[in-house]
Amino acid sequence: MLSVGDLVMMRKAHPCGSSLWRVTRVGADIKIKCEGCARVVMLERSVFEKRLKKIVESAEDAQSHQENNGVEPS
Ligand SMILES: [Zn+2]
Repeated sequence: MLSVGDLVMMRKAHPCGSSLWRVTRVGADIKIKCEGCARVVMLERSVFEKRLKKIVESAEDAQSHQENNGVEPS
């Protein structure tokens, strides 16, 4: 599932050359920020899903990895 903090790749690259976006809001509308030029765009969820190519990095996965890599109990 999509969540805030996810890194996503869109089908079309942004004019700045980057096709990677960071999700900053998830709701009826999806807000994403370009990783190349930091431009923020808001899309309807249905439009976002059509343009989405793949989720490159899930924020939830990254969080659980961090927990797993934490300091081990002595
Ligand atoms: Zn851009």
